Amino acid sequence: MSFSIINCLKNLVDFILPLRCLSCGKIIHEKDSLCSECFDNISFIIKPYCQRCGKPLIGHKDDILGLSCVACLNKKDPYRLCRSAIEYDEYSKRIILDFKFADRVENIPLLVRWLDFAGKDILDAGIDLIIPVPIHFLRLIKRKYNQSALLAMELSKLWSIPVAPNVLKKRKYTKPQSLCDSTKRKTNVKNTFKITNPLKIKGKRIVLIDDVYTTGTTAKECTKILLKAGAKSVDILTVARVCSH
Ligand SMILES: [Zn+2]
Ligand SMILES: [Zn+2]
Repeated sequence: MSFSIINCLKNLVDFILPLRCLSCGKIIHEKDSLCSECFDNISFIIKPYCQRCGKPLIGHKDDILGLSCVACLNKKDPYRLCRSAIEYDEYSKRIILDFKFADRVENIPLLVRWLDFAGKDILDAGIDLIIPVPIHFLRLIKRKYNQSALLAMELSKLWSIPVAPNVLKKRKYTKPQSLCDSTKRKTNVKNTFKITNPLKIKGKRIVLIDDVYTTGTTAKECTKILLKAGAKSVDILTVARVCSH
């Protein structure tokens, strides 16, 4: 087929199915992307951030401490590193919730690009296995897919690092963390996860994938159980993070 015919066909497809901003639906020229207005509204988490937990330090009282936030100086969370690409706010919320609850799987390439961007420090530190934060099978039936598993599988292809989507399971059906207050969050997820095959994770440097880091209660509970079962280290990587300034 000649170049001009291919070009004509491409123009026809663009006319019938134009590329649209994944957030507002406006016609754009780039695939799997946002329009410039929506992109400008996204707050990327860039340095300076806490070298351990990834919390942004810009304009924060922790700024003076340089590389570590006060919480990480005072208390060691079980994970090695935690990173997120963007702040979870009114602008990013829509893209993430549409993917999580409204079957908008076309948002995956964009979200995986953001995970890739945020995961550089973790990749540099070295990882052997990618594991998504699981959801209970009843929730899986209702939602049709585990959003974190889809992200983990795409990231696995991009990074050429194996993914183990079924090694960590959620055994209890619990109330969504978003409906719990801060004191209930811990008890809500306590003892709700199990490892199906400890041999798969023994001695491995694992990165846990989730869509949003809110207080980190779920990710920390998963980290504890993976370390207890023999993982060498656990990092946490999420698309977005709730940042309180
Ligand atoms: Zn837009
Ligand atoms: Zn920190």
